[in-house]
Amino acid sequence: MIDKETLVAWDKRYLWHPFTQMRDWLAEEPVIIERGDGCYLIDTAGNRYIDGVASMWTNVHGHNHPELNAALKTQVDKIAHTTLLGYSNISAIELAKKLVELTPVGLNKVFYSDNGSTAVEIALKMAYQYWQHKGEPQRKLFIHFDKAYHGDTIGAMSVGGIDSFHTTFDSLLFEGIRVSPPETYRSPNTLDRSCNDSAVKTQWLNTVESALSEHSGQVAGVILEPLIQGAGGMLISPQGFLQELSALAKRWETLLIVDEVMTGFGRTGKMWACEHEAVTPDILCTAKGLAAGYLPLAATLTTDEIYNAFLGEYSDLKTFFHGHTFTGNPLACAVALENIAIFERENLLSRLQPTIEHFRNRLQEFYKLSHVGDVRVCGLAAGVELMKNPDTHTSYPFEEKIGIRICKEALTRGAILRPLVNTIVLMPPLQISISELDALLDIVYASIKAVTA
Ligand SMILES: *Cc1c(COP(=O)(O)O)cnc(C)c1O
Repeated sequence: MIDKETLVAWDKRYLWHPFTQMRDWLAEEPVIIERGDGCYLIDTAGNRYIDGVASMWTNVHGHNHPELNAALKTQVDKIAHTTLLGYSNISAIELAKKLVELTPVGLNKVFYSDNGSTAVEIALKMAYQYWQHKGEPQRKLFIHFDKAYHGDTIGAMSVGGIDSFHTTFDSLLFEGIRVSPPETYRSPNTLDRSCNDSAVKTQWLNTVESALSEHSGQVAGVILEPLIQGAGGMLISPQGFLQELSALAKRWETLLIVDEVMTGFGRTGKMWACEHEAVTPDILCTAKGLAAGYLPLAATLTTDEIYNAFLGEYSDLKTFFHGHTFTGNPLACAVALENIAIFERENLLSRLQPTIEHFRNRLQEFYKLSHVGDVRVCGLAAGVELMKNPDTHTSYPFEEKIGIRICKEALTRGAILRPLVNTIVLMPPLQISISELDALLDIVYASIKAVTA
């Protein structure tokens, strides 16, 4: 086995890490993960850490799961990869059927890809081309939201709303309509934290409706992260917003695209965030938890209405000219099938409810910490936002790296986390036990206390 020192040297010499200032990385001692065990990650020195962010929000049933491992091994003994371009494969077919059964009624067709960004690119291109087939080629614009995150490819960035990620690439991005609903937490009239959900919801809807009205007949679709915007800082949308937005999209005859890349597979307490508000979108994107955090796999689901618009003579060129080399990879699809089977066998979604309630209750204790400004929870996802002065809504300056420092402290206490600037993200695997969850929350609480003292 290669020793840790050599691995660190090679990492620093050969690797370029995502979303990482490599100068900082080079100055530090990296944690190198060697194994996983349930909700724990184990490094090369044998230290165990609770996986507090489910390995970038993907892990569902824990690491090194015997049944997921077995599903993968069974599949690999048959075939690892074969293409969906012109041919088919067994696990891709079975999973497509399962996904159609699992998603809101009306989503009947599955288009595979490899990751969340491609799932979104596909959704955008599908919607765009759909309108051409419907004889409304002027519908080219997408309405999207401030603070939204849909991935890092050019199309996904074009409908994103996180300036620090996207501004650099501005001139590469296509034109759209970015709407900025009022921020609930930071707006001056919500200093008392008891923001009136329904007033906020109306404001949000009005913002979207003005955009629809101003660009009437030109909107291809509205894209959003349902219930909670993840990478933007774990921002919760007002209750009922999704349902009314869906009605609004229908009224203005445009498409609703929901990006369930983070929220899908039980994260919000139901299989899909859409289910909380009984919404069937025109297009749904799923990725992160789809293959239980084991392998890169994504799917874009859509309705018969959209699918049928692409049918025609070969020479009509109505084909959806899009595809990725590893589309419908049998290994990933086999693991995804077992992922869903575990949800069903173990009745995971109902078992999850007491865990979610415990999580929510315990997180309220965090308000006792004097620098915790806002605690936002949705299912088994949370953001704890630190504030220099919560009473005046004064943020910590970016340079103070408060989030990074708290996560470093948490590492020494046995938890792996990754912040979103000044917000500490908590997103453990869904299978986390109450006692493991308590251990994680204790570590985070103590770390915030230590660093902000
Ligand atoms: C992570 C994420 C994406 C991008 O997924 P990748 O697999 O990283 O490309 C898109 N949308 C949402 C909501 C996400 O959380």
